[in-house]
Amino acid sequence: MEDCIFCKIAAKEIKADVIFEDDEVIAFNDIYPKYPVHVIVIPKKHIKSAAEAQIDDEKLIGHVMRVGAQLAKDKELSERGFRLLTNVGSDAGQTVHHIHFHVLGGEPLRPL
Ligand code: 5GP
Ligand code: ZN
Repeated sequence: MEDCIFCKIAAKEIKADVIFEDDEVIAFNDIYPKYPVHVIVIPKKHIKSAAEAQIDDEKLIGHVMRVGAQLAKDKELSERGFRLLTNVGSDAGQTVHHIHFHVLGGEPLRPL
């Protein structure tokens, strides 16, 4: 999608610190990390948010989440824990309108 920063990262039109990629998803370090581990995982397909995902996207979204969990595991966060979350809309603070999951960890996270 035009003017979507995450589509541009997926298309390699904008540089990012990519840590994993396959045909469907790409994961990269957040440009402004809020925790010692702050990875963003996205589907390459442009979906605005979890609220806009369709039935046909279920498998893809599941894959994105599983990749996020695997990356946390690779960073040895499985034992101590981590957060895997997606913001939807303005009250949640969604600033990039291409569905993405944050993988957060490496220190105790503030309770929700
Ligand atoms: P949101 O608030 O929409 O859930 O999260 C968007 C996240 O994307 C923010 O944590 C922000 O720092 C990150 N971000 C925004 N633009 C870029 C970018 O161009 N590159 C990278 N690596 N991260 C970005
Ligand atoms: Zn997009």
